[in-house]
Amino acid sequence: MNVESFNLDHRTVKAPYVRLADRKVLPHGDVLVKYDIRFAQPNKAHLEMDTVHSIEHLFAEKSRNHSDKVVDFSPMGCQTGFYLILADEWAYDDVLDLVEATLGDILEATEVPAANEVQCGWGAHHTLTGAQDAAREFLAHRDEWAQVTA
Ligand SMILES: [Zn+2]
Repeated sequence: MNVESFNLDHRTVKAPYVRLADRKVLPHGDVLVKYDIRFAQPNKAHLEMDTVHSIEHLFAEKSRNHSDKVVDFSPMGCQTGFYLILADEWAYDDVLDLVEATLGDILEATEVPAANEVQCGWGAHHTLTGAQDAAREFLAHRDEWAQVTA
């Protein structure tokens, strides 16, 4: 199929993990890489939607303090993880370090950025504690992120 993740057998993966999902060379030679950052075990667990929403806001804002090569951070509709799109080639360990540093920022946050009706399409739909609980759980399994399959 056209979509990379549609060709992934989700029964074979073991969350939490960080997986290179795609690498695209643009017409002028620039490279984009896309990482699957999976918080919850597919078809067994999921994040609550307000938690997903707040992680999206927090990660999108905080990760850019660590790198200007963050292109996009977006939730999966299945609520089990996120896609992180980065410019240029990245060493895998550098991606893990970016994720770890950003989740650390989330644990220290005192508010969800842009959680208001001016800057968000559903400004009331947020939970800082939910995002922090999920980030803490993901960080607790830092030594397992590189293991994608069971
Ligand atoms: Zn929003």
